Amino acid sequence: MPQEKKRRTSVVQAGIGTDKAYKAVISPLYMSSTFEIAGIDQRSTYEYSRTRNPTRDELVNAISTLEHGIGGCVTASGMAALTLIIHLLNPDDLIIAPFDCYGRSYRLLCALSEKGHFKLEFIDQYDPATVEEAFKAKPKMMLIESPSNPVMRTADIAHITKCAKACGTIVAVDNTFLSPMLQQPLKLGADIVFHSTTKFLNGHSDVVGGCVVTSDKDILTDLEFWANSLGLIGAPFDSYMTLRGMRTLELRIHRAQENAQIIAELLDQHDKVDTVYYPGLPAHPGHEVAKRQQDGFGAMLSFEIKGAKQNTIDFVDHLEIFRLAQSLGGTESLINHPASMTHVSMGEEARAKAGVTDQLLRLSVGVEHIDDLCDDLTQALNKTG
Ligand code: PLP
Repeated sequence: MPQEKKRRTSVVQAGIGTDKAYKAVISPLYMSSTFEIAGIDQRSTYEYSRTRNPTRDELVNAISTLEHGIGGCVTASGMAALTLIIHLLNPDDLIIAPFDCYGRSYRLLCALSEKGHFKLEFIDQYDPATVEEAFKAKPKMMLIESPSNPVMRTADIAHITKCAKACGTIVAVDNTFLSPMLQQPLKLGADIVFHSTTKFLNGHSDVVGGCVVTSDKDILTDLEFWANSLGLIGAPFDSYMTLRGMRTLELRIHRAQENAQIIAELLDQHDKVDTVYYPGLPAHPGHEVAKRQQDGFGAMLSFEIKGAKQNTIDFVDHLEIFRLAQSLGGTESLINHPASMTHVSMGEEARAKAGVTDQLLRLSVGVEHIDDLCDDLTQALNKTG
């Protein structure tokens, strides 16, 4: 409990009271691309904003504290965060990733492995025996996305990191779906945690950004080198906005997950709905693992509408509050059709394997009044064939 109290306070205090010049309560935004140097034989912490920027540092320090890391890098997007991490690999290194990861992560990994940047294998990380078998190939890196986007499978992070330690494998976890308020992968033994800060961390659907945090000094040195060399860094203004959004993370995510649990139970009971994928439902295959390793079940869920694809199209058309959109993690509720949107680039075969059917819909549940959200879903289901 004291730990929880500390984290709650530290998220609200992100970037507060750090201004030494004027004692501004909210830390200022440093837009300057360059900083004056005292003399040609002198170096200072801030010289050029691609390398280091005070506002970006405020954000990385805040996320790093929440994730129990020692530091990291703020990047221009979640994809830039993944790009940065995979630059730790050499052409002979093997990276293992989940077969059902975010469609654009899947596409990036495939495209770079085809160019010879590294060797790549996708596995079912939800089966402990498959995981143990995969480590026999001595991978350099194991990528985890838990819960996975969009089918909400839950990987046992502690089990995977235990296997990884024995092989010297770096474990990197995409924590976008839960945020550090609900899961801290570094505490479960991972070496790297990363985010699309576009989502819950910023939380207002008005910034695209990313972040990578590590618990390892050597990895941090490499990450900082590649972030600077490749220029993957995020803009100071985006960092300022993300810090601003993050201060309400704890309030937002708890309200949104309360709503999500009620919606999952409502959909689970509805005769026009097939499977509901939400780890907060006791029948979900990852329920026990989620209970053990998460501080909540989160605000994301997926479900299938019964019958032909047309029923799914009709249902979405009838919604009034849930908006059809690509992103997630904002205060407003959104709905997504992964097969034609976020996971289209995966290809049909990989989608089928991952369970991304034409009837599957993903909800990012917001913080609106629960009655309005339930009414919206119910009226749209009632009008659906
Ligand atoms: N990881 C996950 C789980 C995502 O859902 C997304 C985007 O939807 C990303 C990474 C990529 O983030 P971004 O869109 O900020 O590049």
